[in-house]
Amino acid sequence: MIKNRKDISALVASGILELEPYQSARDEFAVDEGSYTFLDANEHPIPTLVNRYPDPYQTALRKQIAHLKGLSPDQLLLGNGSDEVLDLLFRVFCEPGDAIITLAPTYGMYGVLAQQHRVRNIELTLSADFQPDVDEILQTVDRNTKMLFVCSPNNPSGNLIDADRIKALLSHFNGMVVIDEAYIDFSNSESWARQLDTYPNLVVLQTFSKAYGMAGIRLGMAIANPKVILWLTKIKLPYNVNTLTQEFAKKQLKNIGEINTAIVTLKNERAQLAKALASISYVTKVFPSEANFLLVRVTDASAVYNALITMGIVVRNRSSLPHCEECLRITVGTSEENEQLISALKQVTL
Ligand SMILES: *Cc1c(COP(=O)(O)O)cnc(C)c1O
Repeated sequence: MIKNRKDISALVASGILELEPYQSARDEFAVDEGSYTFLDANEHPIPTLVNRYPDPYQTALRKQIAHLKGLSPDQLLLGNGSDEVLDLLFRVFCEPGDAIITLAPTYGMYGVLAQQHRVRNIELTLSADFQPDVDEILQTVDRNTKMLFVCSPNNPSGNLIDADRIKALLSHFNGMVVIDEAYIDFSNSESWARQLDTYPNLVVLQTFSKAYGMAGIRLGMAIANPKVILWLTKIKLPYNVNTLTQEFAKKQLKNIGEINTAIVTLKNERAQLAKALASISYVTKVFPSEANFLLVRVTDASAVYNALITMGIVVRNRSSLPHCEECLRITVGTSEENEQLISALKQVTL
């Protein structure tokens, strides 16, 4: 194994390393336990849960998450969903004219953010079994290629990206490798966050939106080496994770046992749903999934999609994406919802 030899600070966009971050009032004195009289931030003095600005560094929540995941708080950056974290990554590493590599079919936000930041999106295609071609990727790279996005388990295909290929990319790609693990808790695989000490160019993204059941509070994170976390922290908006979100997440994480039980339930539901789907006459393939959704090929995706809509069920038609011809992406619901879906599908005649 070649250890990564890249000095990652050479990848950072101009102006970021020397940038002096905004110093908020709460940078100088964090609100805790009423130890001071706070007349420094022009807040309203009458106490409610939210009359004070939130902790800009989410110190308590980051500590709690770090503890749960066996990480150190300085390896964590929290954001308003992982979508904000993705945006911050573009702002730290890319300037107009730079490029990223994405591996289609995958999560659409990488490409959208590239466009917004005037960064070229070099879209390569995964193989028919949704694995990357390492040699093709490495041949495509030039010195303006700053980031490679690997979604594992991949959305919309649901599979894990092969670990040996990811290792090869981490070792030989001289840019940041961003592994989006939005669905990792539904898989039987360990997080790449374990490998942070080996690969300085590794950034892992996780979210509270899927397995943790908190899409509505908007909380996501980057897990990376402390240098990268420091750069991201410098450019984020001071109060990017609001008080209600921080408090709600802290409360929910105290019941991590319940969250884990629900994950096991959903994984069982996924297996049952896959079996039931495979027995439908016009279903030609149910792709194996390590996520909380199934990619399903049918003989006529838009006919099935439209029929389901008339029966009040919404799934996602992914047919226009490479290797997803005539494919629907179906989220695993409660057992009642999954039964409702199956009985609706049985009523569809093609
Ligand atoms: C759902 C999803 C996310 C989550 O985004 P949030 O902004 O954290 O809600 C990130 N990446 C992928 C691939 C997803 O499917």
